[in-house]
Amino acid sequence: MQCPRCQKLTRDLDAAVASGDRSKAADCRVLIGRHPDHDRPAPAPKKGKALR
Ligand SMILES: [Zn+2]
Repeated sequence: MQCPRCQKLTRDLDAAVASGDRSKAADCRVLIGRHPDHDRPAPAPKKGKALR
C-alpha cells in the first residue's frame, strides 16, 4: 500500500532508472524512504464519546 506521492515517486524512480539518471533515482529512493507509515495499518478512527 502506497500513498499517491510515493506512487508518483516510484514512477519517477522507474523513469530515472530507465534513463540512467542515477542521482535522480537515488533522490527518489530517499524520498520514498521518508514515508515509513506504509507499513502501518490505517490508524483507527478516534473513538469519541459514546452517543448521547
Ligand atoms: Zn508515501
